[in-house]
Amino acid sequence: MLTPSRLLHRFGCAVLLLASALLTLSCSKQPSSDDAITVYSARAEHLISPLFDRYTQETGIEIRYITDNAGALIQRLKAEGSNSPADILLTVDAGNLWQASEEGLFQPLNSEVIERQIPAHIRAEDNDWTGLSVRARTLIHSTERVDPSELSTYEALVEPQWEGRLCLRTSKSVYNQSLVATMIHTLGEQETENIVRGWVANLATDPFANDTAAMEAIIAGQCDVAIVNSYYFGRLQRNNPDAPLALFWPNQDGRGVHINVSGGGITRHAKNPDGARALLEWLASEDAQFQFAEVNQEYPANPNVGVSEQVAAWGEFRADNINVEMAGRLQGDAIRLMDRARYR
Ligand code: FE
Repeated sequence: MLTPSRLLHRFGCAVLLLASALLTLSCSKQPSSDDAITVYSARAEHLISPLFDRYTQETGIEIRYITDNAGALIQRLKAEGSNSPADILLTVDAGNLWQASEEGLFQPLNSEVIERQIPAHIRAEDNDWTGLSVRARTLIHSTERVDPSELSTYEALVEPQWEGRLCLRTSKSVYNQSLVATMIHTLGEQETENIVRGWVANLATDPFANDTAAMEAIIAGQCDVAIVNSYYFGRLQRNNPDAPLALFWPNQDGRGVHINVSGGGITRHAKNPDGARALLEWLASEDAQFQFAEVNQEYPANPNVGVSEQVAAWGEFRADNINVEMAGRLQGDAIRLMDRARYR
C-alpha cells in the first residue's frame, strides 16, 4: 500500500531520476555551457557565422553571438559593465577598435600566437586588439570616362580636371575619418585640410550614405571616380560582372594605399577569457584566415595566407604601413577638419 511517506519517497525518486536523466543529457551534450564563448560582433552575421560554425564543429565549443553596429555594441558593453556576458568584441575599422580600447572595454590579448601571426602595424600597440582582415580604401573609376593614367593619388583628386567628377561617401563614415586621420599624420593638418577642401570643391553631388551608392553613381554617369573600400567593389563585381568600373591603387609611388582592418579583442569583463583568446588565435591562424577574408573579398591579416582569385585579379599593391591605430588617435582631429572643410 502506498502510504504518504512511500508516495513521497517514490515521487522523490522519480524527481531524482528525472533530474539525473536531465543531468546526463546536459553532460552528454558537448560542450558544457562553461566552455561557450559569447561574441558581440559589428561584423555582419553572414560573414562570421560560417567561421563560428566551423570552430564549433572542430572543437565542440558553442559560440553565442549578437550583431549590431559598433557604436551600439560599445554603448552596450559600457552599460553592462562587469555583468556583460560578452567575451569578445569584433568590429570593423581601427577607429572603432581604438575607441573601444579608450573606453577600457578590452583586456590585453597576451597571445604570442597572435603576435607571430599578425603584423604589428595592424595590432594595437597596447595589445588590446588585433586586426583579423585587411581592406584597402582605394579609387574606383569609370572605365568609359577615365583612363587609369589620369589617376595617381588621393591628393591629386583636387586637380581642376576632376571638377564635378568626384563622388564621396559622407564624412560621418568612420572609413573616411580614418583615411583623413592617417593623412593628417603623414601630411600635416594644413595640407590635409587643403586637400579635403579640394575634394569638396570637385564633388559631382552631395556625399552618399555608403560606398556602393558612390559606385552606382559612377555607373549612372553622375561622376567618374570615387573613394571606396575594396570589398564593396568586390561585392558589386560579383553582382554585376560587366559594370563599367575598375579599381585603381593610389599613392603607389609614395606612402601606399590606405588600409584598415576588421578585428577584435577580449572584453575587460570576459567570463571565458581563455576561450576567447583561443578563438581569436584560431581566427588569426592560417587555417581560418583565408575563409575569414574570402567571405568578404578582403585581404587576410596573416601574411602567410593567400587571397581569393577575385581579389588576386585586382593586382598587388603597396599599402601604407602606418600603424592603423593612428586612425583612432587622430579621429577627433579628422572629424573637426572635415567639418571646417564643409565635407558633410
Ligand atoms: Fe564596410
